[in-house]
Amino acid sequence: MMSLKKKVQILSDSAQFDLCDYSADKRQRNANVPGIYYSSMKGCKVPLFKVLLSNKCFNDCKYCINCSKREFTRIELESSELSKIFMDYYEKRYVDGLFLSSATIDDVDNTMEKLIEVVRILRHEKGYDGYIHLKILPGASRELIKRAMELSNRVSINLETATADGLSALSSTKDYKIDIIRRMKWIKKIHDKNPDITPSGQSTQFIIGAVEETDQEILKRISWLYDKLDIKRTYFSSFQALEGTPLENKPEPDPRRSIRLYQADALLKSYNFKLGEFEFNDGGFLDLEMDPKYVAALKSDIFPLDINTATYDELIRVPGIGPISAKRIISKRRKSRINSLDELKGIGAWVKRAEKFLYIDGYQSSLDKFQ
Ligand code: SF4
Repeated sequence: MMSLKKKVQILSDSAQFDLCDYSADKRQRNANVPGIYYSSMKGCKVPLFKVLLSNKCFNDCKYCINCSKREFTRIELESSELSKIFMDYYEKRYVDGLFLSSATIDDVDNTMEKLIEVVRILRHEKGYDGYIHLKILPGASRELIKRAMELSNRVSINLETATADGLSALSSTKDYKIDIIRRMKWIKKIHDKNPDITPSGQSTQFIIGAVEETDQEILKRISWLYDKLDIKRTYFSSFQALEGTPLENKPEPDPRRSIRLYQADALLKSYNFKLGEFEFNDGGFLDLEMDPKYVAALKSDIFPLDINTATYDELIRVPGIGPISAKRIISKRRKSRINSLDELKGIGAWVKRAEKFLYIDGYQSSLDKFQ
């Protein structure tokens, strides 16, 4: 009979493809304690228990480690068993939070009930009031989504692709508009009505390179998600050709693609960028060699800017100046003019990157592009 430790190891290995706030760093804290990941949050490393309730799945998503067509050891934990393991980890101070997901065992709502039961036990029987990120399964009922939200800090549902056609190429069971987009809209509505529940809102994830979607299509969808559904975070999981899946022979994407998408996503979310500001090649892809903000700046006709008169929105478009340094520049200008690159450096800007896009006191240090 398989040990509990081995089961948790298998289920946490299966969970690694689901990304969340904590998932950037997957190093395990202790090889003897499966399911623990060090992850980044607000500059701190936070240990998180990241696990699936089950890896049994009736869905056939072609890229997925749990795809029904793949042969490997299938396991399911009881809700009570999983909540007990988590509390044991928490009380031993191995972890500070839980990321809980599951493959779809038999029926969507039945599986969702089991996930919710884990969280209910933690909140109402064990008195746990820390961080919980709970996955919503595509197709879950509105009632169960609401219950999940009442018990969690954050929920997420994976969109996986930018278009309905993309998803139907990967899964014969999930309907993009009904099972996913409609559920994301419900989450927004429930949250808008009760902002106190699920205080960290909803996030989503795309799988990059499993279908022939362009970066332009992906960023168009993300832009829509931020505008219409108030998504808090978007994650990109680079497609991996896993052995035993229908896509095991498909070439994997260049890993830089996900990095450029993360950079572009940050521009949409935190820099007020519009889709039309990005530069795509003829195929609809971002430049893999340079970050999208720099590429956009090279093509933009707003540069060079006068550091002493540029607006906040203009300043954050300068490579090497982010929202924090742009705010500092504006605050400093209220007291006195900025007269040198050294002053700009003191404010926290990356001067080497920024200087060719700026006039400082009527002078621009590198005019090559603008002459
Ligand atoms: S629903 Fe699809 S993506 Fe989710 S676990 Fe099952 S096969 Fe994997």
